[in-house]
Amino acid sequence: RAKAGGRDRWAVFDEAMREHAVQILDLEADLRRAINVDSFVAYYQPIVRLSDRTVIGHEALLRWRHQERGLLSPGEFIGLGEDNGLIEEVDWLMYAQVISRLARGGEGYISINVSPRHFRAPDFADRLLRLVDAAGADPCRLRIEITEVALLDDVPRALRTLRTLRSHGIMAQLDDFGTGYSALSYLHRFPIECLKIDQSFVAGLVGDSRTESIAVVRAIQALAGTLGIYTIGEGIETEEQRIALRELGCTCGQGFLLGRPAEQMHPAGDLAISS
Ligand code: C2E
Ligand code: MG
Ligand code: MG
Ligand code: MG
Repeated sequence: RAKAGGRDRWAVFDEAMREHAVQILDLEADLRRAINVDSFVAYYQPIVRLSDRTVIGHEALLRWRHQERGLLSPGEFIGLGEDNGLIEEVDWLMYAQVISRLARGGEGYISINVSPRHFRAPDFADRLLRLVDAAGADPCRLRIEITEVALLDDVPRALRTLRTLRSHGIMAQLDDFGTGYSALSYLHRFPIECLKIDQSFVAGLVGDSRTESIAVVRAIQALAGTLGIYTIGEGIETEEQRIALRELGCTCGQGFLLGRPAEQMHPAGDLAISS
C-alpha cells in the first residue's frame, strides 16, 4: 500500500478536500435557512463574585440548534458567517432575544458579545438602543463585550460608540484581555467597566509554567487598579484557580467550576452551583 504512494495519495487528499468544501457549503446554506426559523438560542453563564460565589450577572453565549448536528457552539460556525455578513444577522437575532429576556424582569446584568466588525458599523449603538427602547428593557442591565481590536482600528469611532452607549447606561467590558495588543497607554481613554482576563492565563495559573501566567495576571491587575476598574477571570475550572485569582486581586469570575452555560439563568444574588 505504501508503494502505491503518489497519485493515490493525492486522490485521497482531493477527496478529503472536496468533502470538506461540501461540508462548509452545506453548513453555510443551513446557516442562511436557520436565520429564518429561530434556530438560535442564548445560553447564559453566571458571572460571580469570587469571594462568596454570589451571582452578579450572566454572559449570553450564542448556540445554534442544528437539526442534524445538535447544539453548535460559535467556534463551529462563526467563521462561516463572518465572511458573508451572516453573523451580523445572527447577532441581531441573539441580541433581540437577550433584550426581550431582560425586559421580562429579573436582576443582575446580561452581557452580549459583539464582534469587532459589528462594533465598527456606524449605526451599531443606535440600533442597539432602539432595540432596548422598543422592548422596554432597562439599559443599565445590559453590557457589551468587545475585544481590544474593536477599539484600536478606529479610535474616534470606538470612542463615540462607547460614549453613546454609556450615556444611555450600557457599559462595556473588554473580553479576552491579555491576548491582544494590551497597549496600556490608550486604555484610559475609553469608558470601560472591567477587563475580562483571558482563560488561557487562568488555565496557566496551575501547572509548570505558572510563573508566566501569574506575571500576566499581576500586570492586568495593576493596570485595572490604575484605571480604577475591576476584573473578571474567565474559564475557571478548579478551586485552585479560583483561589489563585482571588489572591492576585481578581474579584469576579466565570467558568465551569462556578456554573456552566445553560438556558436558565441563576437568580442574581444567589450562590452559583459549586462543582
Ligand atoms: P468568550 O466571549 O470569551 O466566551 C467564553 C467562552 O468560554 C464560551 O465559549 C464559554 O462557553 C467558554 N467557557 C466558559 N467557562 C469555561 C471553562 O471553565 N472552561 C472552558 N474551557 N471554557 C469555558 P463559547 O460559548 O463556545 O463561545 C466562544 C466565543 O464565541 C466567545 O468567547 C465569543 O467570543 C463568541 N461568541 C459567543 N456568543 C456570541 C454571540 O452572540 N455573538 C458573537 N459575535 N460572538 C459570540
Ligand atoms: Mg465574551
Ligand atoms: Mg472571553
Ligand atoms: Mg474567548
